[in-house]
Amino acid sequence: MKRWDGWGDEEFEYRITESAIRYLSDMIGDGIRIVITPKNLIINKISSNKKITFPQASTSKEDRFLHSRGQSLPDWIDIKFNRVKTIPDGVIYPTNEDDVHELLKLASLKKKVVLIPFGGGTSVLGHINPLKDKRPILSVDMSKMRDLIDLDKESQLAKFEAGVKGPDIEAQLRANGYTLGHYPQSFEYSTLGGWIATRSAGQESLKYGGIVDLFKGGVIETPKGTLISKNYPASGAGIDIRELILGSEGRLGIITKADVKISKIPEQEDFYGVFFPTWKLGFSAVRQIVQMGLPLSMLRYSTKEETEITLKLAGHSKLIGALESMLRIRGIGDEKCMLILGLSGSRRELRFAKNAARDTIKKNKGVFAGKVFGEQWRKSRFKTPYLRNTLWDLGYAVDTLETATTWVNIPKMIKEIESSLKSTAETFNERILVFTHLSHFYPTGGSIYTTVIFRIVDDPDELLDRWKQLKTAASEAIIRLGGTISHQHGVGLDHKQFLEQDKGELGVDLMSSIFKEIDPYGIMNPGKLV
Ligand SMILES: Cc1cc2nc3c(=O)[nH]c(=O)nc-3n(C[C@H](O)[C@H](O)[C@H](O)COP(=O)(O)OP(=O)(O)OC[C@H]3O[C@@H](n4cnc5c(N)ncnc54)[C@H](O)[C@@H]3O)c2cc1C
Repeated sequence: MKRWDGWGDEEFEYRITESAIRYLSDMIGDGIRIVITPKNLIINKISSNKKITFPQASTSKEDRFLHSRGQSLPDWIDIKFNRVKTIPDGVIYPTNEDDVHELLKLASLKKKVVLIPFGGGTSVLGHINPLKDKRPILSVDMSKMRDLIDLDKESQLAKFEAGVKGPDIEAQLRANGYTLGHYPQSFEYSTLGGWIATRSAGQESLKYGGIVDLFKGGVIETPKGTLISKNYPASGAGIDIRELILGSEGRLGIITKADVKISKIPEQEDFYGVFFPTWKLGFSAVRQIVQMGLPLSMLRYSTKEETEITLKLAGHSKLIGALESMLRIRGIGDEKCMLILGLSGSRRELRFAKNAARDTIKKNKGVFAGKVFGEQWRKSRFKTPYLRNTLWDLGYAVDTLETATTWVNIPKMIKEIESSLKSTAETFNERILVFTHLSHFYPTGGSIYTTVIFRIVDDPDELLDRWKQLKTAASEAIIRLGGTISHQHGVGLDHKQFLEQDKGELGVDLMSSIFKEIDPYGIMNPGKLV
């Protein structure tokens, strides 16, 4: 069963060792544990809903509560401290395209209603949170629309209903010998519609591309009618409607189905751990490998701090001890930086890509540590987010930030993001853990992903204020240095104030005009994105 006050399945616990707990305590102090109000007490106190005239809507308090927040740190603070103030008045579960079409028609006629498309609710930026509104608010949960509608093997296209989650997509495609290859870390719960609406990126984007590359067309039901983007392989016919749907964050309408590019299941997939003696050498190797256009599936390059923390929190102390001794003999010591390198394709392609990558790695003094670490990473790739639960229970909060910028800008950007976070934490006399990796790559640059861990305080206002200060400082650093406010998480509520600096005033005006034109009464997810 899905956890109501954290990430993932209740059954899975991400355990960390006593020495990892001591490490955290040494680095940032003992965690501060808080007591959480049980779910039934919270739900009992939920006020009754505004009157809804949509007969299919569930008005169960539990249903409404479970659709009220996503997975951002402010969402966690609201839930854990029992201060969720805005809750949808009802939840609708459409079962097919016609249901959504009728819903939009009715909602547009009534005008006085708000609809919030809900995929998996894994947003980390407040995308699905209801805002205060006099109108009744309906969360439109797409989880019943999860079928594979069509598979065109010749054109390598699959058509899915938009509420389908990662594991269901892969199961339905793999049964036919295909894969989508889109693996965000939220894979277990996030949906195709959510990925499209937030321009998501998966871990193997180097091979398969992000959702912007995989999404080939689809249908979105809007307040003004049905908008279709046909699955042309390419088109020179004016502005691309597909691009309007991508990143629309529920403001344009509800995506009901989508055509996606699929690939044959690769013959082989391997993941390797590679270590470099310094950040600079590894960074240079990664850039060269990306720009050579080698057929790799992923690269994930961690700073020295992230490498250290990953190894500390991983457990397996004997294995890591042996690795560190081996690396030391090869001249790689305390400054070491870890690269996870993924290969996928035919055996021949793998051999070629590995040899070519190995040459570049060698020239930059890197050492292949074999498949053990790569495999370990693969096995836990969707389990790492559960660490957020464990750390919260120990009294620590976790947040992540991300951007993308050009190669030339990356080193300075990392430095500025990290130092802005640390100096902000100093103002409230706290030590924090900050560490970064690079994950999605392009010939011209890549994405930066920074994690920050800090102690919880038992006053939720104070905790939220600390989060806000950290988030603002890092976001300002990102914008100041010319990065985008988001590479993959989107805008939602938490990045909204920075969108104008990202897109320019005219850019934001243009976006707002599109939403106004298609949704004149502002019924679709108001207050998000713009
Ligand atoms: C632990 C964790 C790890 C994550 N890892 C990644 C990652 O690796 N890569 C990445 O890109 N993101 C990641 N995310 C962020 C999040 O998973 C993505 O933004 C994801 O795309 C959201 O999908 P969802 O189905 O959960 O959408 P939701 O959170 O339900 O909704 C997100 C937005 O999309 C809209 N929306 C959803 N469905 C539809 C639809 N059918 N039609 C129209 N609008 C719709 C909603 O209204 C909302 O504005 C992570 C989040 C968590 C919590």
